[in-house]
Amino acid sequence: MANVVNVAHKKTIDDVDVRGKRALVRADFNVPQDASGAITDDTRIRAALPTIQALLERGAAVILMSHLGRPKGKRDDRYTLAPVAARLSDQLGRPVDLAPDAVGPETEALARALQPGRVLLLENLRFHPEEEADDPAFARALAALADLYVDDAFGTAHRAHASTAGVASYLPAVSGYLMQRELAALGGALEHPERPFAAVIGGAKVSGKLAVLEHLLPLVDLLLIGGGMANTFLHAQGYGVGTSLLEIDLVDTARTLLDEARRTGAQIVLPVDVVVAARVAPDAAHREVDIAEVPPDWAIVDIGRRTRSLFTHTLSTCRTVLWNGPMGIFEMPPFAEGTRAVAQAIAESGATSIVGGGDSVAAVEELGLAGRMTHVSTGGGASLEFLEGKTLPGVAALDDK
Ligand code: ADP
Ligand code: MG
Repeated sequence: MANVVNVAHKKTIDDVDVRGKRALVRADFNVPQDASGAITDDTRIRAALPTIQALLERGAAVILMSHLGRPKGKRDDRYTLAPVAARLSDQLGRPVDLAPDAVGPETEALARALQPGRVLLLENLRFHPEEEADDPAFARALAALADLYVDDAFGTAHRAHASTAGVASYLPAVSGYLMQRELAALGGALEHPERPFAAVIGGAKVSGKLAVLEHLLPLVDLLLIGGGMANTFLHAQGYGVGTSLLEIDLVDTARTLLDEARRTGAQIVLPVDVVVAARVAPDAAHREVDIAEVPPDWAIVDIGRRTRSLFTHTLSTCRTVLWNGPMGIFEMPPFAEGTRAVAQAIAESGATSIVGGGDSVAAVEELGLAGRMTHVSTGGGASLEFLEGKTLPGVAALDDK
């Protein structure tokens, strides 16, 4: 559990004097855009504001950097950060200048001339292949622009890139508020959860989340498993799962996890009934069946009504709930009831609730329940790696208190 131990020991912007300094802030401005380049969701820009505002109020000059999309190491104007500069300027209520490049003489001159209270955004980091290669010379060139490095890009903290890890070797390195909030929420839940502590794990496959299951099992009191991954556990218990998604090579692993739970005293809760469909399509014939009665030529697409009640009741007794992965094929409205019920149950449980994972977060937001969760993670891949117990390179690179 290296990550859990490290987290509280990392310096934040509250631990350093920033007055008169140039702060180089790695943000995650990888926003979704429509075909014309217009930003369709500015959540990530808004999430970075508290850190930027605090630095400006304390008399720093702020140099922001981010990637956007996948320009594959070449300048490509479709991936310019110009729309981000404009939106950020609106939200900060002050000008945000866009540097023509992440590095180079023009950018250096702009950075050198930047006065306290002013904001400069570097052009897309991934116009340079050196960014993802964590090239030391590139990292040094970024570091040369500033006096202090602030990492507020939790969503890319699981990547060891020049702007997330390398640069920290050449400057004092601290976390911003978003990074701090993510680490406190995820780390806090794992390190000192109020009990009972439940993890609800769903999504398509066991293989994608095996490391998460293995890491969480000794930490939780209850492990509720739904979604496609439950099928492999159900199969391990001798149930037929029809034409459902099944990872036959992981059945033994599922069995080992079930045995392990018996040993550690964690209770694994599996579906007792399911929604089955004749085909995986929103207009397919579907019905609810007991878990022992899945028709051989039908597929499990959601948890059933009794399971929804069981999960809801179980979660109502918990003080901490961690949720990752939908309970069914929620993209198809007839199969979204299980995911909706779990989201609702977590919102109403009164427990400290943490939601991670791209699809789970999308589901919670679609249901209008994000505001009722204690913490909704902004980093899908990063939160997953954190829950696997891995040390995130972007966190490891920060200075210890
Ligand atoms: P997250 O992004 O929250 O970590 P995942 O990416 O692991 O979640 O899983 C989400 C996917 O799992 C969704 O696309 C959903 O359709 C799929 N899924 C959930 N239940 C099933 C099921 N019973 N059969 C097949 N796919 C499923
Ligand atoms: Mg996903």
